[in-house]
Amino acid sequence: MPENKKRINPLDVAMKQLEIAAAQLNLDPGICAKMKHTRRELTVHFPVKMDDGRIKVFTGYRVQHNLARGPAKGGIRYHPDVDLDEVKALAMWMTWKSAVVNIPYGGAKGGIQCDPMKMSKWELENMTRRFTWEIAMIIGPERDIPAPDVYTNPQIMAWIMDTYSILKGYSVPGVVTGKPLELGGSLGRHEATGKGVFITAQEAASLLNIPLPGAKVVVQGCGNVGGIAAKYFDKAGAKVVAISDYRGGIYNPQGLNISSAVDFQKKLISDEYKEGERISNEELLHLECDILVPAALENQITEKNASKIKAKIIVEGANGPTTTEADEILYDRGIFIVPDILANAGGVTVSYFEWVQNLQELLWSEDEVSERLTRIMKRAFAEVLDISQKRKVNMRTAALMLAIGRVAEATKLRGIYP
Ligand code: NAD
Repeated sequence: MPENKKRINPLDVAMKQLEIAAAQLNLDPGICAKMKHTRRELTVHFPVKMDDGRIKVFTGYRVQHNLARGPAKGGIRYHPDVDLDEVKALAMWMTWKSAVVNIPYGGAKGGIQCDPMKMSKWELENMTRRFTWEIAMIIGPERDIPAPDVYTNPQIMAWIMDTYSILKGYSVPGVVTGKPLELGGSLGRHEATGKGVFITAQEAASLLNIPLPGAKVVVQGCGNVGGIAAKYFDKAGAKVVAISDYRGGIYNPQGLNISSAVDFQKKLISDEYKEGERISNEELLHLECDILVPAALENQITEKNASKIKAKIIVEGANGPTTTEADEILYDRGIFIVPDILANAGGVTVSYFEWVQNLQELLWSEDEVSERLTRIMKRAFAEVLDISQKRKVNMRTAALMLAIGRVAEATKLRGIYP
């Protein structure tokens, strides 16, 4: 990661965003202070037996930001840069995200500081199971429900579900979402975040009179979010001209051949993909395009590069890809942003569907999931746009106003105990 991005603390970005929206809402200072703090933060240091016989101690976190609207919800990230402030910021964004799509959850996030690329499957399993044991006291279907995030996947969710179930003595599928279908996962969950990104991009493109067929799309990150969003853009006839992974990107102004996002990522990583020019992740952000989808990590668009962005629309697949300073520059330049808490809320929405199905022991069809997801994403987009137009604020502030207003209302109704 370039030096300038390392120094930006995502929690500072999240706090500034909260202050901007709170001022617009004229929020009670006491309620605002409550929202600035997390409800609880658990840091654990735990030993794992590695393949070479060594014992390695890992540090992991589970942070619950706010529970006013329901149980805490949020992913688990495995990455070398994970730290407490990053997890706190991501937990706060989860609170706003659940509220913006109006699903009855609070916000949480977790993570382990580790390099999963350098670990074997056994080491990942041992680390996941021990971490689950360490945080079991605060998670559960009624308390806090983890899900996949960067470098975690359905297999890791299966190990969490199994370890938690062993501790309880019975199967508890509702303790995590994003599980394999065989263990109570929901049809459509794997695609949900990328699909939600696509649905909100469609809404933005239609608002700006940009026809999707033929539109040029650039995607940073080609994992669960970016890879799948790219597939939907491709299917709709848009031209995905560039996509990247952690090592860099590939660019073809005629459009890349994205038949299967999963195969594509494997080929890109193994250097097999030859249909374009290799570019850096920074160069990718500056490409001429209609729609830019940052779908990797935080702080990719900063005051240093915001003036070089040429996209007409930015749809934030990643959490926190744009700093507050960059937001202002982009807004002044007339670039339309679909903010993270709205654009990538498809994941938490279908996670909610999965949890509802688990609690009721029901299975919904793929069509049912897709139809409900589309309805919720379009409704949320329209509600945010309405606030943005009526209050003359950018889409991020509008989304935060909608979300924070809902959390504030729930907090007032519940009251302060005792
Ligand atoms: P993933 O692990 O499936 O994929 C991450 C992708 O980003 C990979 O292609 C990786 O190579 C790439 N990447 C990593 N570091 C990079 C860098 N420095 N520059 C460019 N690319 C880099 O993760 P994901 O689930 O797709 O998550 C991506 C983003 O979306 C994260 O910000 C995450 O918090 C957010 N998000 C994920 C979900 C979900 O359901 N998975 C939901 C909402 C938001």
